[in-house]
Amino acid sequence: NWILAIESSCDETSAAVIENGEVILSNIVASQIKSHMRFGGVVPEIASRHHVEQITLIIEEAMEEANVTYEDLSAVAVTEGPGLVGALLIGVNAAKAVAFAHNLPLIAVNHMAGHIYSNKFVHSMKFPLLALVVSGGHTELVYMAEDGSYEIIGETRDDAAGEAYDKIGRVLGLPYPGGKIIDEMAHKGKDVYNFPRAMLKEDNYDFSFSGLKSSFINKVHNAEQKGEELNANDLAASFQASVIEVLVTKTLRAVKEYDVNQLLLAGGVAANKGLREALSDVMAKEAPEVELVIPPLSLCGDNAAMIGAAGFVEFNKQQFAGYDLNAKPGLLLG
Ligand code: ATP
Ligand code: MG
Ligand code: FE
Repeated sequence: NWILAIESSCDETSAAVIENGEVILSNIVASQIKSHMRFGGVVPEIASRHHVEQITLIIEEAMEEANVTYEDLSAVAVTEGPGLVGALLIGVNAAKAVAFAHNLPLIAVNHMAGHIYSNKFVHSMKFPLLALVVSGGHTELVYMAEDGSYEIIGETRDDAAGEAYDKIGRVLGLPYPGGKIIDEMAHKGKDVYNFPRAMLKEDNYDFSFSGLKSSFINKVHNAEQKGEELNANDLAASFQASVIEVLVTKTLRAVKEYDVNQLLLAGGVAANKGLREALSDVMAKEAPEVELVIPPLSLCGDNAAMIGAAGFVEFNKQQFAGYDLNAKPGLLLG
């Protein structure tokens, strides 16, 4: 069984061919970051234009690298949402065109489900499980009783973790997206500024990162006004320490309350070295009976392989979309 998967929700054009929902035969990712960098963020119109230019080439490359023909395919899976509407539409229409031309069923995939299923390439999933999804647009704790079932037990009330990283990156004058660079800087600095740990003590699984972002910005601006020099690595380390402490503490609390077999980490911020280490340490010490699964760096960011893995679940249930499938920019999980 081979599925062609397509992802175009934000600023990566990607196509992959997946065997039996768990083996990656190809996973081509064309990033547009260079084109958006000078604007300090993703410009939707530019994203759509790049997707249009790239999508056919990327699909062909994925098919070639996997060494399969369209006749070999069992289905075409595509991200239907959430994401930028113009960007999503390019992938959705490309998927429809391939499915229609080769008489293949079409599978609509939630991008966040895709992030979670990137873990399937590391380990088989053992339900019930919890997933901590941390990305550019989302920060969610998701309970999964079984394949394809999602219950959001906690989420951010304001900024997503990745969004907070990118916003303070701008304040530090770093190129977009700042997350990866701040992570590197954090490892050279110390948590000396002791920024707030929002909602840590509250009896829920929600998060908030906008207060942390404001404290950070105030600290930098006040220092500028007084002509004080702040150490950028210490600022990064202090910011990162706050993000990680909140994410790890609340996730551990959820792991202890819900009787789960696994904890999966997912999303672009899952690439964060500090978070990966802190979560591994805490889980080994506090919940050794729960298996922690962390995707390889190559599968943390947006890619089509994860869409193929999540799409395979729908394929098994024979849950197909019609050729009238539309982009759903605000699609929720579950
Ligand atoms: P969503 O998945 O919510 O729709 P998205 O697809 O734009 O949003 P991803 O591609 O999953 O987001 O992740 C991108 C985010 O990950 C960016 O905010 C980026 O700064 C962040 N990121 C990447 N690497 C790291 C890192 N090492 N540390 C912290 N953040 C990181
Ligand atoms: Mg991206
Ligand atoms: Fe994403």
